[in-house]
Amino acid sequence: MDRYAVIGHPIKHSKSPLIHTAFARQTRQDLRYEALLAPLDGFSATVESFRTTGGRGVNVTAPFKLAACVTATRLTARAEAAGAVNTLTFNGDIIVGDNTDGVGLVRDLTVNLFCPLAGRRVLLLGAGGAARGVVLPLLQGKPTSLTVINRTVSRAHELRTSFARHAGQISFTAGGYDDLDGWDFDIVINATSASLENEAPPLPDGFFAPNAFAYDMMYGAGDTPFLATARAQGVTRLADGLGMLVEQAAESFALWRGVRPNSAPVLSWLRRKLTSSP
Ligand code: NDP
Repeated sequence: MDRYAVIGHPIKHSKSPLIHTAFARQTRQDLRYEALLAPLDGFSATVESFRTTGGRGVNVTAPFKLAACVTATRLTARAEAAGAVNTLTFNGDIIVGDNTDGVGLVRDLTVNLFCPLAGRRVLLLGAGGAARGVVLPLLQGKPTSLTVINRTVSRAHELRTSFARHAGQISFTAGGYDDLDGWDFDIVINATSASLENEAPPLPDGFFAPNAFAYDMMYGAGDTPFLATARAQGVTRLADGLGMLVEQAAESFALWRGVRPNSAPVLSWLRRKLTSSP
């Protein structure tokens, strides 16, 4: 039986084993998928031990997405652009590092939520690992503009600089929350970890355009603080990041197994589980 795993620290909360096991059952693939806790200074050793005992590939979650870039012996273009890896595939001695987070977000937005990027003004909040992973696929969706805003303003500018060559005709700007006054956006994506502290990013009033879409990469049983803020400002089209989680997993699964699972029933099942658990 082929073996795969997700590696992180902590790892108990990870839904990846549930998702990949459901995909395997659905596509009749004979595989086992487990969760591995790596010591904070032991990511490479954990990967090596799994690989040399027959593992075929791993997903990588916080805080190891940057370390996984170093562990990989080869990076795909999208992983190289993101500077972060969430999927490793073992081919003999070659370890290919890829990043499926961005494709997962764009697929969830455009396919599951019917929210096309083309011609829209997109605002991305945050400049950490998750934001880095999604900038290239967002630009490839050909929005009219992409604006990156971050609490530490210099990090937003650094992010913009490293992706500027991919922007083409798209207006691609960066700044801090104070720069948002007087602007409005069609799609607002929260890629900050503010929700972990039960906070919303410090957003001004009135920056959601009419009929805007609010998307939070965080997910949970109810509205995240960011989605609650959006709702309070009259936004009616909202989504959390559960769909992104399932779609990035579907992309990894397709890379590993050569077959794309149907993500919709797995997403519905996971949503039911999330909202019904105490
Ligand atoms: P990082 O730690 O790399 O980055 C955190 C970002 O959040 C930084 O830009 C930081 O700003 C900003 N931030 C933190 N607290 C606040 C606050 N109170 N107000 C405003 N900004 C704040 O985390 P990641 O990028 O890895 O993850 C971000 C989020 O995305 C997490 O919630 C994670 O769970 C989610 N995620 C979801 C995925 C999915 O599949 N649904 C996949 C990957 C991530 P500063 O630079 O100033 O510190």
